[in-house]
Amino acid sequence: MSKEFIFSTMNKTNKALLIKIEEDFCKGCGYCIEICPKKIFSESAKRNKRGYTLPAIQNIEECLCCKKCELICPEMAISVILREEREAVEE
Ligand code: SF4
Ligand code: SF4
Repeated sequence: MSKEFIFSTMNKTNKALLIKIEEDFCKGCGYCIEICPKKIFSESAKRNKRGYTLPAIQNIEECLCCKKCELICPEMAISVILREEREAVEE
């Protein structure tokens, strides 16, 4: 089973925001780093079990929930979820 790392916070409209990365899906392409308008992703030294470099995440509270990162990731490793959507999924 793939490991995942999750970052969560409240965004500026006080909605619970969660960014999830399926660690073992990542191929280290860096597209998420390039596309994010808020520079939420950056390069890190951390690697997954296949040796690919994982993105680091910072300033998550700045996230616009535009989902560009989710859409561009060729490995479908990223999920950006607002709490309302998450609750809808879990119901
Ligand atoms: S949803 Fe948009 S602002 Fe948030 S991390 Fe992804 S690309 Fe950046
Ligand atoms: S776009 Fe996806 S595969 Fe590429 S570095 Fe980001 S999380 Fe990894």
